[in-house]
Amino acid sequence: MAFKIIASQCTQCGACEFECPSGAIELKGENYVIDPKKCTECEGAFETQQCASVCPVPKTCVPA
Ligand code: SF4
Ligand code: SF4
Repeated sequence: MAFKIIASQCTQCGACEFECPSGAIELKGENYVIDPKKCTECEGAFETQQCASVCPVPKTCVPA
């Protein structure tokens, strides 16, 4: 399981990249993307998905 970023809603603020405990978020070209192979859904690290909790745009980091 992994989270994904809805590109059309993302403002490219970059906040999520630094909060991800798995290093799964990267700027690729013009979009921040979550590598589904690296995303752990924050299991074992945090109670809530950090990308979704820091993202200023509601429902932009969502379950894939
Ligand atoms: S759910 Fe957690 S591990 Fe997955 S991309 Fe978001 S912050 Fe990273
Ligand atoms: S925190 Fe949200 S708006 Fe900011 S780069 Fe990540 S997904 Fe995009």
